[in-house]
Amino acid sequence: MSRHLILVGGGHAHMVTLEAIHDFTDKGFEVTVIAPADYHYYSGMGPGMLGGTYAPDDIRFATKNVVTSQGGIFLRDKVVRIDPDLRRVVTETGRELTYDVISFNAGSYVPVPAAGEDGSTPDNLYTVKPIERLMAASKRLTDLFRQKDAVVSIVGGGPSGVEVAGNVWQLAKRTGPYTPKIRIFAGKGLMHRFDPRVKRRVRHTLEHRGMDIRETGYVKEVFQDHIRMNSGEQFPTDFTFMALGVTPSPIFTASGLPIGPDGGLLVNEFLQCPEHPEIFGGGDCIHFNPKSLDKVGVYAVRQNPILCHNLMAALEKPGAGNAFKSFDPGPDYLLIFNLGGGMGVLKKHGIVFGGRLAFKIKDYIDRRFIRRFQAIERTL
Ligand SMILES: Cc1cc2nc3c(=O)[nH]c(=O)nc-3n(C[C@H](O)[C@H](O)[C@H](O)COP(=O)(O)OP(=O)(O)OC[C@H]3O[C@@H](n4cnc5c(N)ncnc54)[C@H](O)[C@@H]3O)c2cc1C
Repeated sequence: MSRHLILVGGGHAHMVTLEAIHDFTDKGFEVTVIAPADYHYYSGMGPGMLGGTYAPDDIRFATKNVVTSQGGIFLRDKVVRIDPDLRRVVTETGRELTYDVISFNAGSYVPVPAAGEDGSTPDNLYTVKPIERLMAASKRLTDLFRQKDAVVSIVGGGPSGVEVAGNVWQLAKRTGPYTPKIRIFAGKGLMHRFDPRVKRRVRHTLEHRGMDIRETGYVKEVFQDHIRMNSGEQFPTDFTFMALGVTPSPIFTASGLPIGPDGGLLVNEFLQCPEHPEIFGGGDCIHFNPKSLDKVGVYAVRQNPILCHNLMAALEKPGAGNAFKSFDPGPDYLLIFNLGGGMGVLKKHGIVFGGRLAFKIKDYIDRRFIRRFQAIERTL
């Protein structure tokens, strides 16, 4: 029987493997990709899609077509857990599949605190991940901005919070006629992990647009029409974004696999689970044991060729550990925040600057990245 590779999630770290599925099938391996949607959205352009700079089609990759046109099997489903001893995957719809080698690129999610009097989540509360939520939010906000001077709240003052705030502002400008009040709940401080020069530029841009930045404490509960702080203070809201830190997919905890401190799949330098050498992973869902990595797409993208090579090696030469390549996270990465209105803030090594040029550089890099992978759809 042919050996079976299962890819869980078609995220940023699996792009090169997805592109090379025909190499696996040509060698007689069976490849199954399990993902909850037929498309994967490039998160770096998500806030820009919210603000209307990009259409959803501009930022997505046709996972299902790319898989099936190369002889792979695509299952629209979600993996709930695996049984590593039986090498068996269990999905949300109750499917059970066995594998010889498996790779996880199932990403991360934004935890939502229980809220509302009955503990339910308000229907005007949107998380910034998955990126499909930003698409839905954009439609709903457009309706709201046509009706009244709404209050839009953003819980979280980190990179995704400020990018979302800036692009909500852009969406409102484009939609009119009303002007929303945008309030950012930034806990102990806006962009608190970042260089003071980054903080200053981000703050200047957002405050200049009249945004209210709250830095005196944490949000305790989010209700349909108001937000309650730990201090008891309350603020009205018509629409709320949850932009707090992300948590890796819960699959690994549910499967009893070795995990890092944040619940991500523990992997070694080969992006491989040391206890179960047929299990690999990349992107936000792993904890890279040699060095803790930020949850940024840059690392997922850099892991692509290593994952693809090691998956092939694991299928071709089971047990031959020396066939694997190790992942080197590489040097300091380029950070550019899209603050809407054609403005950005860029940081690389000691260089920091803000303005239109910063956004133009991000736009160029992001468009080039997604076009490279969208081109696969056309060449198959
Ligand atoms: C608003 C926002 C903006 C960002 N901007 C940037 C940026 O400009 N640059 C940057 O480097 N980083 C950015 N990031 C961080 C970046 O999003 C993540 O680091 C990146 O998405 C990680 O890629 P990933 O492939 O691991 O996860 P994801 O992009 O989340 O992909 C995971 C995939 O797995 C699928 N999946 C999920 N659960 C399951 C399951 N149970 N079974 C099967 N499939 C599943 C999902 O549908 C998805 O397709 C941003 C994040 C946010 C929220």
